[in-house]
Amino acid sequence: MSTQKDLHHIIIIGGGAGGLELAARLGNKLGKKKKALITLIDCTLTHLWKPLLHEVAAGTLNSYEDELSYLALAHKNHFTFRLGRMDTLNRNKQEISTAPTLDNNGNEYIPSRTFKYDTLVFAVGSQTNDFGIKGVKEHCMYLDTRTEADLFHQHFFRNAYTAHAQTVPLREGQLKIAIAGAGATGVELSAELHQAVNQLVEFGLDDLPVDDVKISILEAAERILPALPSGLSDKTAKALAKIDVEILAGQRITEATAEGFITDKVGLVPAEIKVWAAGIKAPDFLARIDGLESNRINQLVVKETLETTHDDNIFALGDCAACPMQVTDDNVPPRAQAAHQQADMLVKSIRNRINNKPLPTYNYVDYGSLINLSRYTTIGNMMGNLIGNKAGSVMIEGLLARFVYMSLYKMHQVVIQGVIRVTLTTIANFLTQKTKPRMKLH
Ligand SMILES: Cc1cc2nc3c(=O)[nH]c(=O)nc-3n(C[C@H](O)[C@H](O)[C@H](O)COP(=O)(O)OP(=O)(O)OC[C@H]3O[C@@H](n4cnc5c(N)ncnc54)[C@H](O)[C@@H]3O)c2cc1C
Repeated sequence: MSTQKDLHHIIIIGGGAGGLELAARLGNKLGKKKKALITLIDCTLTHLWKPLLHEVAAGTLNSYEDELSYLALAHKNHFTFRLGRMDTLNRNKQEISTAPTLDNNGNEYIPSRTFKYDTLVFAVGSQTNDFGIKGVKEHCMYLDTRTEADLFHQHFFRNAYTAHAQTVPLREGQLKIAIAGAGATGVELSAELHQAVNQLVEFGLDDLPVDDVKISILEAAERILPALPSGLSDKTAKALAKIDVEILAGQRITEATAEGFITDKVGLVPAEIKVWAAGIKAPDFLARIDGLESNRINQLVVKETLETTHDDNIFALGDCAACPMQVTDDNVPPRAQAAHQQADMLVKSIRNRINNKPLPTYNYVDYGSLINLSRYTTIGNMMGNLIGNKAGSVMIEGLLARFVYMSLYKMHQVVIQGVIRVTLTTIANFLTQKTKPRMKLH
């Protein structure tokens, strides 16, 4: 009988949209039957699905209610969880190391550790790319992690409370919010923030000078949602206009200051609250890590099998992978649906690898894009392959679009928590929603 030591050891770095699903699926398929040992390493103790972060930032979602403990998920899904931030790779020895883990006061409570692997999967996601633009690091907030989203929420609330209590006139940009980047994140955040301001007034900050609150989105391309179909962009722009979100398209930001953004066309756009959501890059530590091939935004270059180009023992998925598309010259876009699909395929790939069978290749299937404008509306285009319309994509809006939007998150929850638990929590949330405020008010 094989002992733990003889088992094939799969290490997954990063328990996000893709990595956690992979760990849960492999755990249930291989870990449970003691056919492999699966270890998930993440630098945080809890998981929150990243596409929810703009709701956390606006306070329309309470991050403490939706976060899940990795240890509990590991126990349920037959994998092992280890806390740590990976920093180095030794391909010769087939081992990775994590940096020491520190508490909030900077005291080390877990030393640097080393883990041996037979198969290694990078699923460390991406972070915002400030392209080295002057002042962005110092003056803008980011939404890459749950901590950053929580910090933004506090910052936004404090600004609102200060303005509410202020007896002297507001400064020009005091309650102005500017979001750099009109991708899905920036656009959805603008609507959530608009909703949040209204809720604050409804809940008692009735002296808040709402007319002084202004939300602007700045975008270098000529239209919002430049990576998505123009029809979806137009409809979304109209919906944003209805709630007075200002769109400044075709504006290249040259600098961020405490007072606002400076652009090449209009000069200063006053805003003391600034979010940078324009562009992504993979974490810096991945750049050419131990000789692996990476691109200019640090993504690991992978083949269609998701194996890294220089090492067949190492795979990458999701935002941190530069994966070629089968039909165009582009790479697979950094989206939760891609991470989900890739995790799904890697379950099969890794089983095949253990059984010395050929690996499948990944083909990105675009099921469409959905933009959720808080409680106002949801707009999307569903691709023909999803709805049986071979002629092309179809626009959907309102409740149906909202339902499809929610289903991506539900699918993620089902993979990691199981159908029964997700059904019961959904019913419980539905029954208790009337008893709670619709936003986090502290
Ligand atoms: C606000 C916002 C809204 C979005 N909305 C949508 C949407 O509506 N639809 C959509 O398709 N996509 C959306 N996205 C994009 C989507 O979130 C990502 O494409 C997706 O999460 C990528 O999944 P991933 O598994 O590659 O990485 P992630 O989900 O980012 O997970 C990465 C994990 O790696 C961990 N990690 C990072 N570095 C290390 C390290 N060195 N050591 C250990 N662990 C590490 C992190 O803690 C994290 O748990 C949105 C993104 C944002 C920020």
